[in-house]
Amino acid sequence: MKLSLYPYQLQFKFPFRIAHGVRTHTDVVYVKLEHEGFTAWGEATLPPYLPETQKSVSEFLSAFSKNISSNSIDDWFEKLNPIQTNLSAKAALDIALWDLKAQIENKTLIQFLGIRPFEFPLATYTIGVSSFEEMKLKVEEGNKYSFEIFKIKLNGEGDEEMIRNFKKLSSKKFAVDVNQGWKTVEEAIEKISWLKEEGCILVEQPLQKNSLEHVKILKQKSVLPLYADESCQRLSDIEKLKGCFDGINIKLMKCGGITEAHQMILRARELDMKILIGCMSESSVGCTAAAHLTPLADYADLDGPYLISNDPFEGMKIKDGRIQLNPLKEKIQLT
Ligand code: MG
Repeated sequence: MKLSLYPYQLQFKFPFRIAHGVRTHTDVVYVKLEHEGFTAWGEATLPPYLPETQKSVSEFLSAFSKNISSNSIDDWFEKLNPIQTNLSAKAALDIALWDLKAQIENKTLIQFLGIRPFEFPLATYTIGVSSFEEMKLKVEEGNKYSFEIFKIKLNGEGDEEMIRNFKKLSSKKFAVDVNQGWKTVEEAIEKISWLKEEGCILVEQPLQKNSLEHVKILKQKSVLPLYADESCQRLSDIEKLKGCFDGINIKLMKCGGITEAHQMILRARELDMKILIGCMSESSVGCTAAAHLTPLADYADLDGPYLISNDPFEGMKIKDGRIQLNPLKEKIQLT
């Protein structure tokens, strides 16, 4: 089994502004696994609010592969699964291992996970905090690629103006992601009632990630479903979110890959919670991997490949507003 690493920088088409700050690019590390004539890819996406860097990912994965002498995919999984740190690096290797396993056994990942791909969910196109003119370009971009739902980032300031601007530009459905930007339950209740009247379908992470007692009060009064993102990183987080949130946003980079993301889906369903499969604006490698899980989800927020201008790969697409699975292809050769 040969492992190669390719640090790369994904450039956003538009500067991406959320409650945490603004960014123009995202560092990633691509992982290539070669074995028995097959080539598989994984991706670690590293937005600045995550603790990992290209250096830490590369060091972690180099050390991991040096410490394993076996060529068996199952042995690699066995060593990788218990690791609880370096979750983006873990996700990159987990994604590549699943891809390799599927190729070698001539199955799709969907078949491996026992998912019946009856229907792929509607996907959301993200609009960061924007001026009217910026938003106009982003709405046009989302329409161009047939997205049927927009996810609008709010930060607690100028929220009403953002929504009014959006409604001048589109009559499509929209969700909002507050990224912990609202300060109090009262502010959240008021804004959610107004958002419902404006046609909003769901609210993601309205309050601080650790203020679950406040979210619990909010949930009782909220007229819209609440989804946890920052409050829900891992499988072990889900239990305590029951009664606070209606659904969770599962991302491969938060939980360490497909293996745990699939377990999270099963647990959330047992608890009767809704599921959104999200991303950290990954390129086609990460989003195509995540897309395999989306027949099990209510919504998919896998717009990463549409937000960046230099995706070295091609894979999942949006067709008529829904996720469409396609095999992953390299568009340019990474060096
Ligand atoms: Mg979010």
